[in-house]
Amino acid sequence: MTPPFAVADPETGAAVKAADRAHVFHSWSAQAVIDPLAVAGAEGSYFWDYDGNRYLDFSSQLVNTNIGHQHPKVVAAIQEQAAKLCTIAPGFAVDVRSEAARLIAEVTPGDLNQVFFTNGGAEAVENAVRMARLHTGRHKVFSAYRSYHGATSTAINLTGDPRRWPSDTASAGVVHFWGPYLYRSQFHATSEEQECERALEHLEQLVAFEGPQSVAAIILESVVGTAGILVPPAGYLAGVREICDRYGIVFILDEVMSGFGRTGAWFAADHWGVVPDLLTFAKGVNSGYVPLGGVAISPEIAATFATRAYPGGLTYSGHPLACASAVATINAMREERIVENAADIGERVIGPALRDIAARHASVGEVRGLGVFWALDLVKDKATHEPLVPYNAAGADNAPMAEFAAACKKGGLWPFVNMNRTHVVPPCTVTEAEAKEGLAALDEALSVTDRYAVNG
Ligand code: PMP
Repeated sequence: MTPPFAVADPETGAAVKAADRAHVFHSWSAQAVIDPLAVAGAEGSYFWDYDGNRYLDFSSQLVNTNIGHQHPKVVAAIQEQAAKLCTIAPGFAVDVRSEAARLIAEVTPGDLNQVFFTNGGAEAVENAVRMARLHTGRHKVFSAYRSYHGATSTAINLTGDPRRWPSDTASAGVVHFWGPYLYRSQFHATSEEQECERALEHLEQLVAFEGPQSVAAIILESVVGTAGILVPPAGYLAGVREICDRYGIVFILDEVMSGFGRTGAWFAADHWGVVPDLLTFAKGVNSGYVPLGGVAISPEIAATFATRAYPGGLTYSGHPLACASAVATINAMREERIVENAADIGERVIGPALRDIAARHASVGEVRGLGVFWALDLVKDKATHEPLVPYNAAGADNAPMAEFAAACKKGGLWPFVNMNRTHVVPPCTVTEAEAKEGLAALDEALSVTDRYAVNG
């Protein structure tokens, strides 16, 4: 079946773009420079523009449409809820909110049995940090360089990437540390074991020098997402858990991007059997059909607020339409074995294909990932690992990545591009045929970046 929006309607497309240019102020963009694609509609792993072009979405938008676009069960659940009860304040008990919380408690690791709802990831991080500070009576929060935790006040300060804005507030008690990343090791390590050991030693020394009595929390992405799909070595998360236990520090795992099937498990932490004290989620919880995020909370931290009020809240916390879509999403993921599909496609199709691509392309330095959560780290020189473009490259400096993205789009593939990397992050529902189609387009587009590499 060809969806109706596959039919070209360039006139409407031009009108949509003109209104956008006149009135929409876009995120992360220079307003006069951004030239957004006007989207007519979407279905499954694809979306269409008004010229009738179809794009295979290897970005899952912002790595959130885990269940694909327009899943009929989720669309129906939102419609049914809208007909019944569109909104109700967070202080009431309602069926969809209770059921969403129950299901989230069921699928999150260990005994994280209570859920505080937010409208997205950054608010989840803000509230997790607030809970940790109130629970411990301490102020400092440790977060990793090469991380993304959101764009609100505390979350942007926790975010550890090379983008820094002089206007942002002072670090507000944030201490950054280096996580493990063997390909560009800060620790001069030559094996995963060594990288793990030295990264943990570094973290514990920082805790000692900052004073454990002042450290409320350590926050980590279980698998680092936006900053490069960095899969931690085997013992790393368990090692951080031990450090937290030793010093009474709250362990927060940020699973906003890595959660809800993305890595081929319900949560990335499940791969290593690690249970945090607080877990932040958003995106995949309902594939972003209606804004939703939250914090899953351990019994011990929940007990802190048993008789003492939790001083935080949001008008739309646990919004009925968002919760209805989360219930339908989690049920569909179970019924259709979508997490299992992500694991299978990653292991059997995407992983082997990307390793084959890396062997044939001069510009592909490293392949990392699991499930439907992969990165190609593009380099100028495979021997030195020098990134293909500098951090925060713009204009001519960023030409290799801009040309690569354009080549992907020309080939019908919508890529996720960040600095010198392209991430392969299709929906968890991606089929083998779709994955192969996208990988072939990616393979072809990489001939563009090869031209900028040594021996390319
Ligand atoms: N944490 C992580 C790990 C994320 O990937 C993101 C979003 N990319 C956020 C937090 C922030 O989420 P949101 O944009 O919904 O505020």
